[in-house]
Amino acid sequence: MYHPEILERLERNVSPEACPALVLNADYTPLSYYPLSLWSWQDAIKAAFLERVDVVAEYEREIRSQSFAMRLPSVVALRQYVKPSANPAFTRFNLFLRDKFTCQYCGSREDLTFDHVVPRAYGGRTTWTNVTTACAPCNLRKGGRTPAEAHMMPRQRPFQPTSHQLQENGRAFPPHYCHETWRDYLYWDVELEA
Ligand SMILES: [Zn+2]
Repeated sequence: MYHPEILERLERNVSPEACPALVLNADYTPLSYYPLSLWSWQDAIKAAFLERVDVVAEYEREIRSQSFAMRLPSVVALRQYVKPSANPAFTRFNLFLRDKFTCQYCGSREDLTFDHVVPRAYGGRTTWTNVTTACAPCNLRKGGRTPAEAHMMPRQRPFQPTSHQLQENGRAFPPHYCHETWRDYLYWDVELEA
């Protein structure tokens, strides 16, 4: 299974009862595909009131006070374009995402861990270009050896990904919950190809 913190991150805010709003950039592409950029309905309404976002689509559900009623936003778009950082942070999550949650030695998608391709004992550093995704059995089998010593070559040489590459990889992992109004912004090009 994936690491628990990743599952937790997936599930955060992503329940129909929470009425989360999909957050789009000013160009109407999602701020993030994976994890999907979602705000709580409270944050979405606040941002709408502050005129930081335009409401693009709505839930049926309304909130009411004495003075007004408003449908909960299901899709909002930022008014100001946020430029994605060119170099994504070196985090466990982003590393898994770069490697598409796949062991780079055997292709397994279970029990994933990290492997220093050049072991730390040999001076291998904890960087994008030396750490790869490995399942626990492969990690154990490789041990403290180099790929040459272990006769285990990673399928791709570890590299520093761009934000664009991570976003593209993220599209391969659809959210567990997807409100009908989100589909147009998440998968429009995918559906055209189908
Ligand atoms: Zn493996």
